[in-house]
Amino acid sequence: METPKLPKTLEVWQNTINWHPSESQQQRFQELYEIILIGNRQQNLTRITAPEDFWEKHLWDSLLGIAPLLKTDSTSIFEPNLPKNAKIIDVGTGAGFPGIPIAITNPHWNITLLDSTRKKIAFLARAIAKLQLQNTTTLLGRAEAIGQQSQHRENYDIAVIRAVGQPSVCAEYILPLVKVGGWGILYRGQWKEDDTLNLESALSKLGGKIKLIQPGKTPISQGIRHCIYIKKIIPTQSKYPRAVGIPHQQPLK
Ligand code: SAH
Repeated sequence: METPKLPKTLEVWQNTINWHPSESQQQRFQELYEIILIGNRQQNLTRITAPEDFWEKHLWDSLLGIAPLLKTDSTSIFEPNLPKNAKIIDVGTGAGFPGIPIAITNPHWNITLLDSTRKKIAFLARAIAKLQLQNTTTLLGRAEAIGQQSQHRENYDIAVIRAVGQPSVCAEYILPLVKVGGWGILYRGQWKEDDTLNLESALSKLGGKIKLIQPGKTPISQGIRHCIYIKKIIPTQSKYPRAVGIPHQQPLK
């Protein structure tokens, strides 16, 4: 069966995140879509398979969080301390979101896709090879264990995380991996004042600080989104992340 074509939505990209993909990036998105649909026949990768849904909830949404970095007008909150060849880790990447779209659009960054499910990592390794994404590697493991390994701890300029757990759990997974001066980006849907207070309290233990809470809406279905930009200001104490399972069972308060 022929893979359906993704919508060509250059104006929508431009009007919403002030950026649009090149012709070759659009081709890569289409290839990724095909790889995911084929992979979905063998394993449960995603329920989001219709072309418009895939475009909105996987492609557009994946790039929303890094939109301030794609803009060329340089009013970005990240300036000026992000190196050109920045190291990015996507924690709990699943079928590769938001990590793969980020890798396709930022060939000069080095992207690590981390997940604890062996089958997903095996799929991602094949997907990366097919897409010829030379800037992307996979990593199998639990964020709690990887965050304690010296080759990964405080080694990344940016850590992104989408749909993995509640905010303070996500913060405990990602902050240990981020360099001092680097950023954690939480991809969230709804966001309430209480979420801010809880997250701030967890971040005071992890060495981070919320710099920006950016509300948004998805362009087709008008779904609520919030991107939470956390700056790492001091090193994370060695007791974090706690042992495998603990952050989820006893979230930091
Ligand atoms: N980020 C993707 C997938 C979300 S599903 C998306 O937004 O589409 C959550 C994924 O996180 C699963 O693939 C699961 O295997 C992984 N995961 C959950 N807890 C984890 C942990 N502690 N360390 C690493 N990966 C984890």
